[in-house]
Amino acid sequence: MQIIHANIVFSEDREHLAVHPDSYIAVDKGVVKGIWPVLPEEYKNAPLTDHGDGVLIPAFSDLHVHAPQYLNRGLEMDLLLADWLDKCTFPMEARYADPEFARLAYDAFVDDMIANGTMHACVYGTIHSEATAYLLESMDKRGIKGFVGKVNMDRSAQDDLLEDTEKSIRDTEAFLEKYSGNKNTKPILTPRFAPTCTRELINGLGRLGKKYNTGMQTHLVESLWEEEQARLLFPECSCDTEIYERAGLMDNGPVIGGHFIFPSEDDIRIMLKYDSYAAHCPDATVSVIAGIMQTGALLDRGLRIGLGSDISAGHHIGVYSQAARSVQLSKLKQFYEPEGNRKITFPEAFWMATKQSGKLFDGTGTLEPGAVFDALVIDGLSDAARKLSPEQVVERFCYIGTKENIKARYLNGNALC
Ligand SMILES: [Zn+2]
Repeated sequence: MQIIHANIVFSEDREHLAVHPDSYIAVDKGVVKGIWPVLPEEYKNAPLTDHGDGVLIPAFSDLHVHAPQYLNRGLEMDLLLADWLDKCTFPMEARYADPEFARLAYDAFVDDMIANGTMHACVYGTIHSEATAYLLESMDKRGIKGFVGKVNMDRSAQDDLLEDTEKSIRDTEAFLEKYSGNKNTKPILTPRFAPTCTRELINGLGRLGKKYNTGMQTHLVESLWEEEQARLLFPECSCDTEIYERAGLMDNGPVIGGHFIFPSEDDIRIMLKYDSYAAHCPDATVSVIAGIMQTGALLDRGLRIGLGSDISAGHHIGVYSQAARSVQLSKLKQFYEPEGNRKITFPEAFWMATKQSGKLFDGTGTLEPGAVFDALVIDGLSDAARKLSPEQVVERFCYIGTKENIKARYLNGNALC
């Protein structure tokens, strides 16, 4: 049993923050037991950590991030998606054929993710099994709850990233076989997106999904170009999402569709049917994708939405910055397309970044009793002339905070140094 004293903030529900100023939280075997303004007598002898004025919040979840593109962050951001893939992304991903290069890059990626308060993540590797296995093992060893996918692509990419269809399926099965029993970081099927996958490949992955009870992450209707390619290459399907539904990929485990910016009614219907998640990646949206998700309208229809850094279409690995950006983008969406769109509130953005997406990772993303204690202490955001309330500290952190404002990190109840 350990006791932590701080100001405590987490999402009560989609629209409200729960705020416990100057309170005590008890954590036993990595699980939250309760929160009190005055420490109960029975806990008086338990070890106490006092974070003073610091604000304790749940750790963040990143629902869409490309680890191999970490070295490209903040570069070539003036390109649009198709050119950016060809000139910037695919050449970098090809380098992960070299396991030594991969180890160096992935160590830095995992360190920076944790430093920025992300303790749960859905991560894309590359087509390379050895490098992707190293990424998964690194995250698993550090206790990060998440999913890592060996990417599949068997058309429309540069030669050294094109897989033979049969080999792609065989390599993926070996990857699932080896890691499906993992406790922290697990494998997930990762067909990159419709333009780079044949029907044969997607069907093969559907069979693996059933056999190993494994979910899927992919990119869904992320740009008008991608949406058009999907319809052109899979004319039998009414929409992008149906490509995966027909292959039996939607109901074997969690499904996370990256971006979901230009969905048709059919796309939305299928996602709602399977309780799938859309990953909203605000920075990527304004950099290489050039479209804005209908976040408010989709939330109101009951779609599950989490946030993604989308390194390196997005440039900032901190999911907290994406919470702020999602509010900004929803206002632009409402301004330019008022019909059917609304701005979202900061509590809604924070909820997407924590409690809503945390459901994918054993009910993390909250500090309610029973939750796994993955948490951060943030501080240093008030002004000498203006002391902020705990909820204002959280909002300001998302807008202008950095990893330097994260003063302590807890993962499964253990303080990380
Ligand atoms: Zn992506």
